[in-house]
Amino acid sequence: MGGGSGGLTVAAAALALGASVVLIERDKMGGDCLNYGCVPSKSLIASAKRAQYMRTATKFGIAAEDPKINFGRVNEHVHGVIADIAPHDSVERFEGLGATVLQGEARFIDAKTVMVGDQGIKPRRFVIATGSRPASPPIPGLSDVDYHTNETIFNLTRKPQHLIVVGGGPIGMEMAQAHHRLGCEVTVLEMQVPLAKDDPELTDIALKQIRREGVTIRQSVKVAQVAPKAKNIAVTIEHENGETEEVVGSHLLLAAGRKPNVEALDLEKARVSYDGRGIQVSSALKTSNKLIYAIGDVAGGLQFTHVAGVSRWLGGAQRALSFAHQKQCEHHSVGNLHRS
Ligand SMILES: Cc1cc2nc3c(=O)[nH]c(=O)nc-3n(C[C@H](O)[C@H](O)[C@H](O)COP(=O)(O)OP(=O)(O)OC[C@H]3O[C@@H](n4cnc5c(N)ncnc54)[C@H](O)[C@@H]3O)c2cc1C
Repeated sequence: MGGGSGGLTVAAAALALGASVVLIERDKMGGDCLNYGCVPSKSLIASAKRAQYMRTATKFGIAAEDPKINFGRVNEHVHGVIADIAPHDSVERFEGLGATVLQGEARFIDAKTVMVGDQGIKPRRFVIATGSRPASPPIPGLSDVDYHTNETIFNLTRKPQHLIVVGGGPIGMEMAQAHHRLGCEVTVLEMQVPLAKDDPELTDIALKQIRREGVTIRQSVKVAQVAPKAKNIAVTIEHENGETEEVVGSHLLLAAGRKPNVEALDLEKARVSYDGRGIQVSSALKTSNKLIYAIGDVAGGLQFTHVAGVSRWLGGAQRALSFAHQKQCEHHSVGNLHRS
């Protein structure tokens, strides 16, 4: 369930081992990584890096230049890279490998059956790889302003004058640096310290460099409110001592955490336990239902493509793939649900 990094790697590995595989995706094949995550972000960063090389070429004996950035063309580059990679994650490729790809939303109707539309599937093993989406923090006024998340920011074809980024995690910080290198004024608002989950010996170096380049990072501030202000967005921030201040920008990017995609799955019916961080799994990636595994972002933990991809090899996940030896994934239409 889920045709992103986790689902596709598990499907490809299981197919390579000879298993019968049904792959279910409700939106775009490739998931977050290809469409709204790693691929567009790393492509934007690649453009930003070229711009920065131009500015800093002098020490290499090359006259530095202020790059003329065409944001529309940068956007074309980003979407060109997505288009180049998309065939690798496509329905056609996976059908060519032997999978049955169903385009629709998966939901459990009991502990052994998942439905896609009116089609029921009763396999030996399930792997839930439905990923995550950007969390919407409860900021007063958010519904009154146009804001971006990673699902929309890569659609911008005009350069933001002043991008305010809420959240100084890896996504917020990489977007902040890339946009600044592409000529935008950027302010990051972080409730604690930026990149707090990573090794401070490394993050100190990265943050010093990002600040030196000109990104404004405001840490230990809470976003108290947002509101439209003429054609801009006014963000009221609250300092630890209770004082407030207004930061005005042209665009707002929310990068303040992720929510697991569990709601549509009807996990209660499958007797799969989960909480706000995601589906609870054992070290072998098994859920509370022994037929069902969960991998990638939906299983909480580190939310990275390489983690989602590597999951397939971990401990009991290999056992999940032992279904490869048995050819036992049957799918039947409703009314004909049985298990052979
Ligand atoms: C801006 C950004 C940059 C990133 N950069 C990096 C990076 O550089 N390196 C890195 O390792 N990671 C990066 N990540 C993280 C990476 O994108 C995720 O960790 C990875 O995509 C998780 O893979 P997944 O398979 O768990 O979920 P996803 O890739 O999100 O795939 C889940 C899929 O399941 C589908 N789905 C959801 N519910 C259902 C349902 N009920 N039925 C059917 N289908 C369903 C969704 O439509 C989606 O296609 C980045 C993320 C973002 C947002």
